Amino acid sequence: MPVKIGVPRALLYYNYFPLWNGFFRELGCDVVISGKTSKAILDKGVKMSVDEACLPVKLFFGHVVDLREKADYIFMPRMVSVERKSYICPKFLGLPDMVRYNIPDLPNIIDVTVNMSRNEKNLIKSFTEVGRLFTGNYLGIRKAFQKGLQEQERFERLNQLGFLPHESIEQMEKGLISQNYSPSHPGKLTIAVVGHGYNIYDAYISMNLINKLRDMSARVVTPDMLTNDIIQDRSDELPKKLFWSMGKQMIGSAFHYMRSQSIDGIIHVASFGCGPDSFTQELIERYLRRSRNMPFLNLTIDEHTGEAGVITRLEAFIDMIQWRRAAQ
Ligand code: SF4
Repeated sequence: MPVKIGVPRALLYYNYFPLWNGFFRELGCDVVISGKTSKAILDKGVKMSVDEACLPVKLFFGHVVDLREKADYIFMPRMVSVERKSYICPKFLGLPDMVRYNIPDLPNIIDVTVNMSRNEKNLIKSFTEVGRLFTGNYLGIRKAFQKGLQEQERFERLNQLGFLPHESIEQMEKGLISQNYSPSHPGKLTIAVVGHGYNIYDAYISMNLINKLRDMSARVVTPDMLTNDIIQDRSDELPKKLFWSMGKQMIGSAFHYMRSQSIDGIIHVASFGCGPDSFTQELIERYLRRSRNMPFLNLTIDEHTGEAGVITRLEAFIDMIQWRRAAQ
């Protein structure tokens, strides 16, 4: 029986699942993803985690609990850095320890460290360390790593074609990975939704924000549709270099979209209790007011946020954009 590797459908699942999935499958493992977020999963996470944690971390705990009986291992890399001289939010660094000490009766946790801050080639070392848990065949591990990288590249290409990451993952799972296959979500308005993937693509946590906007005839674009070069160029406009990868993605994409004449408004989605989000929101809003008077909405979400309030604010935002258009 193949070894079952559990992957929580939370946090960096929305960024790196194709890499992880391609790697483990090529090694002959089965990959099991936790269920889609539900009230039950969130409640379990809130119960098991510490009060001070941000909502995405609490939710991650719930997804780990969901995998408890379903997998032989849970893959939970200790993410320190995904690019040179830049770092990830420190919550990711301590995640495996927080989970281990708060959730009893877990299967083995694979908590390999991923730190590419000094040398991006360190990634292969991390994956070799993981592969050695399952095989002594070094060439097999290299092949599995290459497979993972190929899947990740396909995923990123699909996102840049206009798919959203959760849709790209679905298309890849169905084998619909052709470059000719393009998404079709035309809209009368185009709204940039700027936020962490784990917030904006999780339909439960975001209260189905993207589909609600589409129902209101809006096309949605997100940071993941932009290349790293665009993000880097735009964030370089700040007087100081950003050493935090996720903040760079938020700022770089917001700066790009605020310049684009095809964008009608920006929605920034933040997590309650997230220091970095409060910083990016403030910065984006200030630059937006200075450069272009584009409609901007900040949505801060936590486990108590009510759907009715979000719908009212979205409707008011879209109405306001339409009035402005009509008045021009
Ligand atoms: S960036 Fe913010 S929301 Fe994300 S894990 Fe860190 S504190 Fe939580």
